[in-house]
Amino acid sequence: MQCLFCSIVEKKFPSKEIYEDKKVFAFHDVRPQAPIHILIVPKKHVSTVLDIETADNELMGHMFQVANKIARDQGIAEKGFRLVLNCNRQAGQTVFHVHLHLLGGRLMKWPPG
Ligand code: AMP
Ligand code: ZN
Repeated sequence: MQCLFCSIVEKKFPSKEIYEDKKVFAFHDVRPQAPIHILIVPKKHVSTVLDIETADNELMGHMFQVANKIARDQGIAEKGFRLVLNCNRQAGQTVFHVHLHLLGGRLMKWPPG
């Protein structure tokens, strides 16, 4: 079965796109958990953080640069935001294509649930 986020990256499945470059795609989460909830995904399919290879180091760093840019553009950089990356079932990963959750616009609790 085709990966959902690969389909979104390839625009075969609709999304509310917010950012795109050669390596990364970002779109609004369909079930937002905060006023701002954006998913940042590598265009390359990587299933979980456990599958990140040394060759992906630059790509992973770039994802954080994109997260920073989006946080600034959304006006939440100074107040604060949260980046979440779930790995495997017990952490709540449901889509097995690595993605950074960018959450902001409300007070975040700690520890996370
Ligand atoms: P995770 O649970 O960390 O794997 O995150 C998967 C996220 O993808 C969840 O927050 C879902 O709400 C979100 N999601 C699932 N399907 C879609 C979709 N078609 N478009 C946008 N976000 C989605
Ligand atoms: Zn994929």
